[in-house]
Order: sequence, then C-alpha cells, then structure tokens
Amino acid sequence: PPVDPGKLKAFLDRLSTEVHAADDWGQVATYIPELADVAPNQFAISVVLADGTRLSAGARSVPFSIQSVSKVFMLACVLGREGDNIWRRVDREPSGDRFDSILLLEQEKGRPRNPFINAGALVTTDAMLANRAPKQALSEFLGFLRAAAGDEDIHIDPSVAASEARYGFRNVALANYLKSYDNLHNAPELTLGTYFHQCAVEMTTDQLAMAGRMIAQLPGAPPLMAPARARRLGALMMTCGHYDGSGDFAFRVGLPGKSGVGGGILMVAPGRASIAIWSPGLNSYGNSKVGTEAAELLTDFTGWSVFS
Ligand code: GLN
Repeated sequence: PPVDPGKLKAFLDRLSTEVHAADDWGQVATYIPELADVAPNQFAISVVLADGTRLSAGARSVPFSIQSVSKVFMLACVLGREGDNIWRRVDREPSGDRFDSILLLEQEKGRPRNPFINAGALVTTDAMLANRAPKQALSEFLGFLRAAAGDEDIHIDPSVAASEARYGFRNVALANYLKSYDNLHNAPELTLGTYFHQCAVEMTTDQLAMAGRMIAQLPGAPPLMAPARARRLGALMMTCGHYDGSGDFAFRVGLPGKSGVGGGILMVAPGRASIAIWSPGLNSYGNSKVGTEAAELLTDFTGWSVFS
C-alpha cells in the first residue's frame, strides 16, 4: 500500500530530530582539504513521491558537495550519447574494493570493474570528453542535472575542484594507469580536471531527490532516460553504488543507492520514490554513517526495500 504522506512527513521530522542525538557522526573526508572543514553533525533528507509530493526534513536547503553521486549522472549522460559502447571500456561487476583502489586494475588490464569506483568513473568522464572540450562537457553535464532536477540553481564549487586537483594523488595514479592501457583517450590531466569539477557540483537534498526521479521512474520525471536504462542504472547502484559497502547497504536498506564522500546518498524506490539524504560524517567504507542509518530506518518504516 502507498505510504500516507502525512505520516511520512511526521516520520522524517522525527528522524531528523532523533539523529541529532547521535554521539558518533563518523569522520568527514580529510583527503580533500575543502571537505575536511565541513561540520559532521548535519543532516537532511528529502523524498519525492510518485504523485509528485515533496517532503523533507533537516538541512534540506544546504548545498553540499555531491562527489561520487555525480558518477550516476555522468554515466547517464554518456549512455545517452554513445549507448552501450561504454561497456567495452568498463565492466559491470561489484569490486569489493575501496572506491579509490588500483588493485584490480592491473589484474584486469586497465578495464575497471564498474563505473562507480573512481577508476571506472574516470573512464566514463573520459568518454564524455569525446569531441568536446572539458568546459563544454561540464556545461552539458550541468545542463543535464538541472533538467533532471527541474532547477537551474545547480553549480560547481571551483574551490572544491581545486582542492581535489591539488591533493587527489590517487586519482592521478589511476588516470595514468588507465592511460598506460589505452583506456583513456584524452590527456590524463584533461580527464582528471573534468572529473574533479563534476565531483565538485553542489546540490541540496531537495535538488538531488528531484534529479533522481528519472532513475526511480516516477511518472512526473522529465523524459531524459528510457525506462530500460533507468532499470539498469538502478541495478548498478544496488550492486556497486556503495563500493565495498554495497552488500552491507543492500542488506540493511534494500534500495539502489549511490553515495559520495561529501556524505550524500541518492536512493531510488522504483516506481515509488526518489530519496536524497545528507550527513557528512562517513563510516569505514567512506559512505555517510548517519545517512545510512537513516536510510535503514526509512525503509523499515515505509516497506520500500525492493526485497519487501
Ligand atoms: N572526488 C572524490 C574522489 O575522486 C569522489 C570519491 C567519492 O565520493 N567516494 O576521490
């Protein structure tokens, strides 16, 4: 049965109050200095239902760095442009390794395990740069996000991109390694620069939940993606969206989700809702700690787990 919006709103308010009693908010990411300055004890949740009802609680209008949540939307852009060709360059299997791991890349001869670990996302971004300059690729990407969210007020924070460009040594290593296998078609610094900027997009949970409508296949979503593609994106989010914590997230929450090291999580309950959560403190997998706990409580309350 569909959830009662009034009851759901009361639940979200309660959730937002209760999480503030947490004594452990997790650790904010420190390897990107700009993110290290964010206070961990913040929380927001936004839900868009199939009938278009929008509900939120907490810091719903505070923009945060979407980081790896951007990987879903960049992949959607690339799939729209070149279709299944991208799968020649990147696989679709969970990696069981950390998001920035280089381990499997040697074993698998430069073909990353999936598009949601950093190595795979660099390949996706590189594909977006086919026949276009970074500026153009990024403005197309932003245009896609704005259309998906129905909101023009979505921007890149250049200081976050610069901070990551300065300290993102592992990404530099991954890009060079991919290049050595001919799986980057642009100069590594071009692909990296584009990737750092896409990760530095700032959004609120309200905006992110709106942008997720097309992946959740909600009736009111802008027609930016074929349903078959949305289903496949959901499958990738379920199996790979939380890196080596993907199994744990599926076990606890039971929804396709994509996390970012800024503490954002986008989740979809196919046909029912698009959900965005933000809390910047991270667990040991680099996924939002309190955000994951809140996601678990939400699916307990709503019965939205795809396994229910
Ligand atoms: N921009 C970050 C990085 O490349 C994204 C990682 C993440 O959100 N897990 O390291």
